[in-house]
Amino acid sequence: MAIVTPVETPSGTRRRLAIANPATLEPIGEIEVQTADDVKAAVESARKAQPAWAALSFDERARVMRRVLQVMLDRQEEFIDIVVSETGKSHTEALMMEIFSTCDAVNFYAKRAAKILATEKVRLHGLMAMMKQARILYRPLGVVGVISPWNGPVILSMNPSVQALMAGNAVLLKPSEVTPFSGQIPREVFQEAGLPEGLFHVLVGDGETGAALTASDVDKISFTGSVETGRKVAVACAERLTPCTLELGGKDAMIVCEDVNIDNAAGGAVAGAFMNTGQYCCGTERVYVVEPVADEFTRKVVGRVSQLRQGASGEFDVGAIFWPRQLEIIEEHVADAVAKGARVLCGGRRNPNLEGLFFEPTVLTDVNHDMRIMREETFGPVLPIMRVRDEEHAIELANDSSYGLSGTVWTREKRHGLEIARRIDSGSVCVNDMAVTYGVLETPFGGVKNSGIGHVNGASGLRGYCHAEPVIIDRFGGRQVASMYPYSRKRDEGMKRMMKLLWGTSLGRRLS
Ligand code: NAD
Repeated sequence: MAIVTPVETPSGTRRRLAIANPATLEPIGEIEVQTADDVKAAVESARKAQPAWAALSFDERARVMRRVLQVMLDRQEEFIDIVVSETGKSHTEALMMEIFSTCDAVNFYAKRAAKILATEKVRLHGLMAMMKQARILYRPLGVVGVISPWNGPVILSMNPSVQALMAGNAVLLKPSEVTPFSGQIPREVFQEAGLPEGLFHVLVGDGETGAALTASDVDKISFTGSVETGRKVAVACAERLTPCTLELGGKDAMIVCEDVNIDNAAGGAVAGAFMNTGQYCCGTERVYVVEPVADEFTRKVVGRVSQLRQGASGEFDVGAIFWPRQLEIIEEHVADAVAKGARVLCGGRRNPNLEGLFFEPTVLTDVNHDMRIMREETFGPVLPIMRVRDEEHAIELANDSSYGLSGTVWTREKRHGLEIARRIDSGSVCVNDMAVTYGVLETPFGGVKNSGIGHVNGASGLRGYCHAEPVIIDRFGGRQVASMYPYSRKRDEGMKRMMKLLWGTSLGRRLS
């Protein structure tokens, strides 16, 4: 982030926001909030550019994406510096989450789009198969609005944008006001890679710009962000009947079974809870560990967390909180838990040795579902561990949530892990792994319950940027419909006999 402060602007001019580094509190720069008029102009420009792009072959579009990949590789250090200065995340996390994941997504969709979006031959059923053929065409929607959050400012902007572009659409990206400079990276990359003029726009601003985009004449909104804003986006899209996908918040549970490899599970819990300073949509937000292994698991987690290095520069493991409002939420959740009886095993406060927005890596125990920390998204470096009677209890508590984004199960028995995964009400589950599902591009990623609607990734995610248009072709050149009139009772009786033959429940009835 950054710390976003409104700047005094003379009346009649556009609002300006000042952005500061959350780790050092030093100013980074200012942005000008773009208005509904800017959005309208961008939609018009994108609409003009889109048909020529859609007319290109997948190979031609993929060629541009391969240049995108090259620009990402060539300029990665420059991009990492921008992300680190705006978010306070470590160099490794910027590299892993923003650069590596983006390159992987660009490469994946450049290679796979042609196959996933190829015209599909459909095998028809029953009599229909004798008379007709069917194809499904995947046609671009037109102009897609992508609205992204601050916790993964490059990947969460690039992944949907590349998919929409590979499907033949134009894209208007509205990155978060908390990371507006990282939000410019996609524009620079696409421009340098030679994407045709007008096809991709970045709209800079806050909720005002985002709301203007959802109210504009776009053909789809792909939104990633909080549940609260997701609801507003859904309402705005409903007004215009604009299709939308909503990738929203989570409160992912980790279930630790008795037969677990405790070292692996402890390592998984720490990676899941502290990666990206806990500001990761499918990070581990709560742990349920069964009684027999609870003490050892908790001890091992605390041992590892105590070794984590927090910092603002150089080599460190856990960075800053990206913006002040998130820091307040984290503090509120920890204070509420402690007031209701939770014990702080390590951390539990702002880091007094660092000047910026830092909360110490924290482990809590003696937690329960009366506490906000077990029910609301904390989105910070805090790991609450709850001991439970048995796995049934763990599953019941994991499902006692208004969220359902992802989750993890830890057991030596893969089949057992799969059985538990089947019973967890969430968009995805990992067995013996931290929540990596967003990066497994072959599979659909999306939430259930309050965690969202629709998918990014996988065939269904990519096809979500298209209209699936069935084309039905009569094998006999329309002879059958040509002779449809006049209607007659005799013809109806013939049809009834045919239905009995096809679907009658016994041979006697079928032949009667
Ligand atoms: P947010 O909802 O505050 O903001 C997201 C985006 O929406 C920003 O670009 C913002 O400017 C814009 N916006 C704000 N008001 C708007 C409006 N009325 N209409 C349209 N756009 C508007 O979310 P955030 O705080 O930036 O991101 C953190 C949240 O995102 C967390 O809840 C996290 O779990 C979630 N998230 C989900 C996923 C996922 O894939 N499910 C991935 C990353 C983050």
